[in-house]
Amino acid sequence: MKRLRKKKTGVNDLVWVLDSTLREGEQTPGVYFDKHIKLAIAALLDEIGIDIIEAGHPMVTTEIHAAVKSIAQKGYKSIVGAHSRSLQSDVDLALECGVGFLGIFYCVSDERLSDVFKKDLDSAIKQITDVISYAKSKNKNLLIRYTPEDTVRSQFENVVQAASAAVDAGADIISVADTTGYMVPGTDRSMYNYISRLIEELDKRNLHPRIAVHCHNDRGLALANALDAYRAGASIIDAAALGLGERAGIVDLAQLLTVLTIDYSVNRWNLSKLVGLYDLVSKHSGIPIPANFPITGKNAFTHCAGVHTHAASINPMHYESLNPEILGRPRTFALDHMSGIASLRYALNLIGENSLDDAHQHDVLCEVKSVGQRGRTVDLAELTHIVEAVKHHKTYNS
Ligand SMILES: [Zn+2]
Repeated sequence: MKRLRKKKTGVNDLVWVLDSTLREGEQTPGVYFDKHIKLAIAALLDEIGIDIIEAGHPMVTTEIHAAVKSIAQKGYKSIVGAHSRSLQSDVDLALECGVGFLGIFYCVSDERLSDVFKKDLDSAIKQITDVISYAKSKNKNLLIRYTPEDTVRSQFENVVQAASAAVDAGADIISVADTTGYMVPGTDRSMYNYISRLIEELDKRNLHPRIAVHCHNDRGLALANALDAYRAGASIIDAAALGLGERAGIVDLAQLLTVLTIDYSVNRWNLSKLVGLYDLVSKHSGIPIPANFPITGKNAFTHCAGVHTHAASINPMHYESLNPEILGRPRTFALDHMSGIASLRYALNLIGENSLDDAHQHDVLCEVKSVGQRGRTVDLAELTHIVEAVKHHKTYNS
């Protein structure tokens, strides 16, 4: 088995990001992307430099099959992948699309095997390894990932046994799935400990697959768990634009890429394309980007309270730990009922208004506070209108 993982443990500088907006993201209730939108999303993911684009599960519908095939044949730098049950028919359809990556999943927990599939672990492992060997025999360059579903809540010895057999059969990647967002950093459900233990067990068997991690966000800990896994030696992290996915979704792509770039010094992605991607995905998923969403939310780089605005106008780093320029976003200032005269003066300066005397500035601030008390903020364009109204002694009608 080729040694794909660079280091036994610790942060891996060969980290790959797998985007699953088109597969997991489409499992968000009510979300469906038309084929031309899927192609536009995939094109942006390729421009961002995403390592693996999980384009869909071709067996689900003929539309998904057609979209996966079109994306796989674009010749992107990103590796294009398909999802597949542990069935030869799913593998055949995925291979027919021309994908370079195949994600095969099958559960290994005793309870699910007996309740749902009416089979024991040995026959489950045989089904998994037969399908992996078959896929590899059809295309030896195909990257194969095996995921024991709900990995972290399955019996650990079952996971080790199935993962070892999968790697022996030709799987290149073992994915640890926190399917229900169950893990909590720093507790006995720590992803760091889980990944460390799994790597250790596989090392003992002289097996060195890449370890991937798929974290759901049920407790709001998906990104924290993914980074925990990364620190322990996982080198593929799944994410989706807006964190879309089943229930509360998975790791948010923009947050993951920003943290890996800024805080882990992995400079491989074009972050300036993220805003365009999020606008596209939000528009066509019908899921709005929350205003206070980190990185991509409308307010993520907007200063509001008077003391913040004043200090940030002198040096933005007083109230920012991320520079919006790396995302191609502007730093903005909003005025509302919290604003003071210093932030108003700063804003007036930004719109080139230097002719107001103190009394008029006071009148403008009163209008701004009045708008703010109605639950709105005043941006620079609206401030211009307020100034004009005050100058001409008109009542400002917001
Ligand atoms: Zn998932």
